[in-house]
Order: sequence, then structure tokens, then C-alpha cells
Amino acid sequence: MSYFSVTEAQDCILEHASCMNMERVALHDSLNRVLACDVSANRNHPPYDVSAMDGYAVRFADLAEATTDVPVALTVVDDIRAGVMPQVKVLPGKAARIMTGAPVPAGADTVIRVEDTQDAGDRVSILVPQKQGANIRPLGENLRNGEIVLTRGTEITPGVLAILAMVKQKEVSVFARPTVAILSTGDELDSIDEPVDENKIPDANSHALYAQCRSIGITPTLLGIAHDNPIELRAKLAEGLKYDVLLASGGVSVGHHDFMRPMLDALGITMHFWRVAMRPGHPLAFGTSENGLVFGLPGNPVASMVCFEQFVAPACRAMMGHKRLFRRTIMARLAHDVKDRVGRAHFVRVTLSRDEQGYVATSTGAQGSGVLLSMAMADGLMLIPAESEGFKKGDMVTIQLLQGMEFQQAACLQEG
Ligand code: AMP
Ligand code: MG
Repeated sequence: MSYFSVTEAQDCILEHASCMNMERVALHDSLNRVLACDVSANRNHPPYDVSAMDGYAVRFADLAEATTDVPVALTVVDDIRAGVMPQVKVLPGKAARIMTGAPVPAGADTVIRVEDTQDAGDRVSILVPQKQGANIRPLGENLRNGEIVLTRGTEITPGVLAILAMVKQKEVSVFARPTVAILSTGDELDSIDEPVDENKIPDANSHALYAQCRSIGITPTLLGIAHDNPIELRAKLAEGLKYDVLLASGGVSVGHHDFMRPMLDALGITMHFWRVAMRPGHPLAFGTSENGLVFGLPGNPVASMVCFEQFVAPACRAMMGHKRLFRRTIMARLAHDVKDRVGRAHFVRVTLSRDEQGYVATSTGAQGSGVLLSMAMADGLMLIPAESEGFKKGDMVTIQLLQGMEFQQAACLQEG
């Protein structure tokens, strides 16, 4: 069985992660989903030329050389509010008082801000000349009837959702989300519902993987724990294969193979690889059934979580139609030396801080894949390529940001 690099494993998985079918969801439920169809505008917006300011709609030709000393006086013939169609044409020497968003009346071609005028009841003095067409939002500036405004594959952010509302899509076509089942395997495990037993290991993976699925918009089903007994394991795996994606953690390390492999074969799963050259997460299996994907994740909670981010999340995001599959990376300065052995890619848990020169990365300490607390404290994962012997203090390194790093303490116009 082949021994894949991280990139080879990702490529192999993504080859099998095909896009889900489309489904219709309510507008509000479409947030963070991906559009499965192009969306065209069913109207012009604005539907007519509108004023961008509170002020006066005038004829540019009337303004000549208006100045504070020699203002141009015009007669006010109308008062136009937003949503009301003007009835009076603005003739030479006339002006109409106008609100932001109100339609520009016939005859007028320019709007003067109220701040640049002096109001005298039925007369107004224009103090500042303007460019022709100033302060007018032209018909169709935002949306043009019949034109495609959003394309298939667009991620629905709040801004995109606003456009969908504007073209009155109460229901939106998006790519469906895969169904995901989570199974923990191991004789030593007990569930969160059982009383504390000092001789057992509480099942952390089911819950970590549940949370990681939620972070990418999927609510998975927990199948519980399968003990290391062929009948129980086979039944639970068979149940899991009804889902688009099955995440089974534990039991894929060396020694377990002889037990797992015939079972997966018998269940009709084609295994593509059993190991990836990485730390943590060396034992990582991937297979496909007729209906979906099967991940054999490492039992170690940290390794299972790191593998989810590198392999499962990108696959699920691809299935949901996303183009951006991987967690963001940034560059940071390393606070201390980190030695590494050549041969496997290493994902080192780090915290991030900032100084005048940018981000600084510091290891969370002991990197054993059983040390879950150091994953809990991590802001990101520092990537050490397989061929590297590590980095020196001050080196610029690549950090993959973990969840929780979307927000920062300082506002964007403040320092730091
Ligand atoms: P395995 O991959 O089954 O050999 O497990 C590797 C290590 O991870 C062992 O120390 C297990 O006790 C631990 N482990 C396996 N599954 C879980 C789980 N669901 N939650 C917490 N620890 C686990
Ligand atoms: Mg085990």
C-alpha cells in the first residue's frame, strides 16, 4: 500500500470529492453556502436616476459661474421625496428640493448639496458650481435588468445575500451539504454519557470532529463508539457508509490493518492509501465506497484534528461547491529555533502574537500527538515541509490559521 505525501493525499482525496447536487434553501439559510446557479437581475437598480444627496435638482446650464460672492438664485418649484415620482419639470431658472434616493425630475441634470446652497423659502441660492451630473446615481448603476449579477460558485456572504434580497430570491439554489457520520473505535474508550472511569479513555475525537464539522457548516451524526470487535465494528461501519462521508477515528495504525482491511474490503470500500508522511497524523486511511468517502483518522485526538483540517475539511468544502478549500495561511516570524527530522511534513502547534514587524509564532510546547491541551491553546499550525530540518529563530514561517483567528483585538484603523 502506497505511502503518500500530504499533497499527494490531498490530490487523491479531492479527485474523489465531487460536488453535491443542488438544493433550494430559504434566503436566510443560504448564508455561507455556495450558489449553484447564475443569478440575473430582474430589474434595474436604481430604477431611475436618483439623487445621492439631500439638496436641489437643477439645470447645469443655469449655474454659470456661481460663487459665494455671486450666487445664482433659482425658484423652487417642487419638493421631491424618495419613492414619489416627480410631476413637475425643472425649467430654466428653476430648481426642485430633493431628498437622497428620490427620483431626479425631468429637466434637471445635476444635484447641488444642501450645504452648498442658501434656502430662502421659494428661492434658493447656489453658492458653489458643480460638475454636470454631480450627485446623481444613474439608472442601473447597481443592477441592470437581465444581466448576470452573481455567478454559480459564489460564496454567499452577507453582501451577496443582500443582492439576492434585492432581486427578490426568497429561495436560493445552493450546493447541498454532505451528510457526515462520525465513529470512534477502540476498546479503551468510553462515552461522555458514562460515569468517570479511571481505566478508560474518554472519547474526545467524536466531539472534536463534531465541532470541526460545525465550523465548516455541517452538522454531523455521531455513531458513538465501536469496540475492537469485528461484529460490532462491521455493523457500525456499515451504518456509517450510508452517509456521504464517514469519519472513523482510531484503529488504522500498524497492527490494526489485518483486522480493518478485510472488513473494509467486504463492505465494498476501495482503499486508496493507509499512511501519509506527516506528523502528527501518520496513520491516515482514505477509501471510497459507491456512495461516498471514508476517512480512517488517527486515534490520537491532536492527529485526528490536524488530519481533519488538512484532508476532511477541504474534501467537504469541495463537495459543497467552494473554491477556497484550505484554511488560510499567513507568514510569521519564529520566536525560537525549531529542529525537525527530514522525511515527514510536520504541523507544529503555535500561538501567534503581533509586534511592529508583524506576526510572531511561538510553539505551544510539547508536541506529542497525545497532548491535546497544546492543540486547545494553538492559534495555528506551523508548516515544516518534509525535506526541511527545521527553522531558526527569526525565520519567516508559514502558519495555517485555526478557527478563532478570524477576529482580532485591535480595530483595523488602530495600530497593532
Ligand atoms: P489508535 O489509533 O486506535 O491506535 O489510538 C491511538 C491513541 O489514541 C490511543 O492512545 C488511544 O487511546 C487514543 N484514542 C483513540 N481514539 C480516541 C478517541 N476517540 N478519543 C480520545 N483518544 C482516543
Ligand atoms: Mg485503538
